[in-house]
Amino acid sequence: MTRKLAVFVLLGLVASPLLADEKKIEKPKCDFVESPNFNKDERGKGKINYIIIHTIEGTKDSCISWFKQTKSQVSAHYVVGFDGSITQMVKDKDRAWHAGVKLYNEEAIGIEHEGYAAKNGWTEKQLRASAELTRWLCHEYGIPIDREHLKGHCEIAPGRKTDPGPYFKWDLYLALVKDPKTRIDLSEKKDPEKK
Ligand SMILES: [Zn+2]
Repeated sequence: MTRKLAVFVLLGLVASPLLADEKKIEKPKCDFVESPNFNKDERGKGKINYIIIHTIEGTKDSCISWFKQTKSQVSAHYVVGFDGSITQMVKDKDRAWHAGVKLYNEEAIGIEHEGYAAKNGWTEKQLRASAELTRWLCHEYGIPIDREHLKGHCEIAPGRKTDPGPYFKWDLYLALVKDPKTRIDLSEKKDPEKK
């Protein structure tokens, strides 16, 4: 190893942990519109262990108005639009009614996404906003960024739910959660049925 290279390697070893620590992860901007459909709780680190990814099967506005109604008996912590806007509807510490499975209602954060499981409507803004939110949640509550802890609704309610559907690219999403600078190529995103 040349001296130059040795210095370079040494700098790299010293600098990288510092850089990682310096980068403070902030919660992305979101509006708060309260849903009445939740159980009060005091969840925090150690009690929030999963993130469940959903698609709304409709628009963001329709979702917010549905979750605001007591009669719907459903909710989620966050709703992410095609435009990348995020609306929080249940506080993280409380239990939203999104999973239909006791364990996950108790221990998960539910994130709804504008769009349909069977259609490829995902936008770059939406994926980036959702991943930024998930990055913050994982950091805040110590949730590992892997497929054991980040799951689709269809995976915890098989046979009953299909969201987020086959067009949700898990590898890309996990890469985005880990590194916001990850490139997104949605060029092959076109719905085959659409012209
Ligand atoms: Zn769902």
